[in-house]
Amino acid sequence: MEKVAVFPGSFDPFTIGHESIVLRALSLFDKIIIAVGYNTNKKSFFSIEQRLAIIKKVFEGEARIEVITYEGLTVDLCKRINVFYILRGLRTSDDFEFERAIGQVNKAMFHKIESVFLLTDPEHSFVNSTIVRDILIHNGDPSLFLPKSINIKDYLPHS
Ligand code: ADP
Repeated sequence: MEKVAVFPGSFDPFTIGHESIVLRALSLFDKIIIAVGYNTNKKSFFSIEQRLAIIKKVFEGEARIEVITYEGLTVDLCKRINVFYILRGLRTSDDFEFERAIGQVNKAMFHKIESVFLLTDPEHSFVNSTIVRDILIHNGDPSLFLPKSINIKDYLPHS
């Protein structure tokens, strides 16, 4: 049976840290579905369409990667599309505590689900979407922290 994982997140925006987790996970899974979470109560910097477009561009031509959007609980998405692995990245002990709780809640809600965690590459451990957004808000250039294949200026809100 094909091994498929969902990589859920807000990806606001998708960084080199996210890209690295997906590329490394391709050696563990046949297919990875990157699922961009849509939360009506949470204001994002990039719209859901922009976040989707960025990730699609990063993995253009990669048949083993699919990019989708979803609303609601990740476990409900997994049940609906018959996926039994959730992929997440771990940078710090704070990430671990946060992910442990979510992973255990997910398992309690859907016993077939397994969470798979990859430790970040050391050079990406300080990279996060919040810092990228801050740099953009202050008119800086965050390209060091973003996948090489995209030019973030093409996706900026109101551009
Ligand atoms: P969420 O809002 O669900 O935390 P994010 O978009 O912030 O979503 O992150 C999605 C996943 O990617 C999470 O598992 C997060 O820990 C992981 N991640 C984020 N940045 C990095 C990084 N620099 N290296 C490794 N994993 C990362």
